[in-house]
Amino acid sequence: MSKFAIFVDLQHDFTFGTLANPAAIEKLQYLKEEVELLGRKGYRLVFTKDTHAADEEEYKNTLEGQYIPYHCGDGTAGREIVEPIKMKLYDAGDWCIRKETFGSTDLIAYLQKKNLEEPIDEIRFYGFVTEICVVSNALLVRTFFPNVRIVVDAAGCAGLTTEGHAAALTVMKACLIEVVNE
Ligand SMILES: [Zn+2]
Repeated sequence: MSKFAIFVDLQHDFTFGTLANPAAIEKLQYLKEEVELLGRKGYRLVFTKDTHAADEEEYKNTLEGQYIPYHCGDGTAGREIVEPIKMKLYDAGDWCIRKETFGSTDLIAYLQKKNLEEPIDEIRFYGFVTEICVVSNALLVRTFFPNVRIVVDAAGCAGLTTEGHAAALTVMKACLIEVVNE
């Protein structure tokens, strides 16, 4: 049996960059510790990277571009995994997944492939922001892995607002996703 920890969008633009978020910055030390701890415990670590067009005008023509300021442009510094998490990346077994919208079908394909090699019995989630990309991916994984234990560590997630963060946790709990450290 294998265990995975998915770290959603721990990127510069969601912390210090164009969508700067003090609630996310507050979580970075805990996230760094969790990356190290879960790595030692044998979890496979997966990092998603939100990615939009290198050309800001092209981004503005997307639905997301009409509502959310430009962020995580392909090739920009804002798309990079934020320090101090970045220095922990690319250890053996770690994996990055490029994602171009909230939920990632590539993440599902990756987990399905891994599940065939060795059945997955736990998938943990951390990341930014709780009410958009964390909830989207947790529900997507719940759909494709109806019998796998899914855990969201609330202490390692940050929302745009405290209300949005709490609402997303409520929805995930209703879908039989365990919320810990709330
Ligand atoms: Zn985005």
